[in-house]
Amino acid sequence: MDFDEFRRHGHAFVDWMADYLETVEDRPVRPQVEPGEIARQLPSSPPDSPEAMADIFADFENILLPGMVNWQHPSFFAFFTANSSPPSVLAEMLTATLGAQCMMWETSPAATELETRVLDWLRQMCGLPGPDEGGFHGVIQDTASSAILCAILTARERATDWAANVKGLKSTPPLAVYTSIETHSSTEKSVKIAGLGADALRKIATTDDFGMDPKALRAAVEADIAAGIIPACVIASIGATGVGAVDPLEPIGQLCREHGIFLHIDSAWAGSAFILPEKHWMLEGIDYADSLVLNPHKWLFTNFDCSAHYVRDPDALIRTLTILPDYLKHANQGDVIDYRDWGIALGRRFRALKLWFVIRSYGVSGLQSMLRAHIAHTVWLTQEIEDDKGFTLAAPRRLSLIAFRYVAGNVEPEEEDRRTDLLAKTLNDSGRLYVTPTTVKGRRAIRFNIGQTYTERHHVEAAWKDIKETAAALFAD
Ligand SMILES: *Cc1c(COP(=O)(O)O)cnc(C)c1O
Repeated sequence: MDFDEFRRHGHAFVDWMADYLETVEDRPVRPQVEPGEIARQLPSSPPDSPEAMADIFADFENILLPGMVNWQHPSFFAFFTANSSPPSVLAEMLTATLGAQCMMWETSPAATELETRVLDWLRQMCGLPGPDEGGFHGVIQDTASSAILCAILTARERATDWAANVKGLKSTPPLAVYTSIETHSSTEKSVKIAGLGADALRKIATTDDFGMDPKALRAAVEADIAAGIIPACVIASIGATGVGAVDPLEPIGQLCREHGIFLHIDSAWAGSAFILPEKHWMLEGIDYADSLVLNPHKWLFTNFDCSAHYVRDPDALIRTLTILPDYLKHANQGDVIDYRDWGIALGRRFRALKLWFVIRSYGVSGLQSMLRAHIAHTVWLTQEIEDDKGFTLAAPRRLSLIAFRYVAGNVEPEEEDRRTDLLAKTLNDSGRLYVTPTTVKGRRAIRFNIGQTYTERHHVEAAWKDIKETAAALFAD
């Protein structure tokens, strides 16, 4: 493809992109496809001769698009959103065009320095303490999962005085990691990858509000110490995945400090709301934390992948991951940052660019208003559910996340569970909206998260009407 052709297709693609985003709500949120249905339409071997862009694009539109979940659909209420925005998409186009490898300062000076600057902007927006006050240094990871793995690896090394890195875990006493039963599965995965073994993970009970029970945590830590096991790391959540549980950082942090335990905060979803001063109460106790992660690629209008990882002691992270002799690290220290030593992968995309575009395009106040609108829509829906005898909340609302059950009719709990599941399935199969069926305290529930860039009040009102009407049609008793 020559550059004239590239220019022509590029213009046409941008038109297509604008049309797609403008009319995405006319498409089903979730496709109605059977496993294998898309693959059957794709040739099983690659083309030997060049194909025309028109043909490639036609297959994209006709074969692939009908098999995609439209994540930018305003009636996407499932999982957590992966919201993006036009400025973010434009920046991604530039990132793709430069095709730069941003593994270290030498290979992309501006990308490195922008990453440091824009993550410090985000840190200030979130009200997190800065490097000057013994606070946080930022790095962009691909995902929160990677940040959690980095935290557990750093904790492992700190707890073994960097012996595990050199001699392996057989040379050290057994280690333990603590998290609540509500915590995202990425913690368990990281414990396995870090070589600690899934048995090293202690899943701590929660109190009635779904937050980690600090008393149960203390008991588990003390039992491990008595058994010769080193408590290495606590992963606490601010906004856990199920129902948005917020763990009490203050008592958890005190315990960590008492025993020298590394404390990582997983706020992958809820962390975006730290830019709202009225939500800062969630960060109470943050002074005890060694690291924290939040995903602008979930709820801050920045395309996947962009996960903001804040660490208090970058030297500990670098010492854990670096593959360079120490003298080289020290030769650069204070001068330039080589982010390849701050994460798992060597190669790195220029991810800071899209976050910079987003923050500048909307301004902090613009981003705050968008999040406040999502929360206000959720408050409205919560009130509707509370006022309707046919439904009940399965957990208290957290920010823009709720879970509810269908409870109309005088039926057994098992039948309520079955109906709630059937309602979620019927709604999802309709393609009109997308919710997540889940379990809350042993009972089935519909999990509903509002965070899509283009979601307005009328989309939430239509969804609620749809939910009530679908339930009435399904269970006319
Ligand atoms: C989404 C989520 C994760 C995982 O995020 P990735 O960036 O996909 O790895 C971890 N923890 C919480 C609380 C989440 O909501």
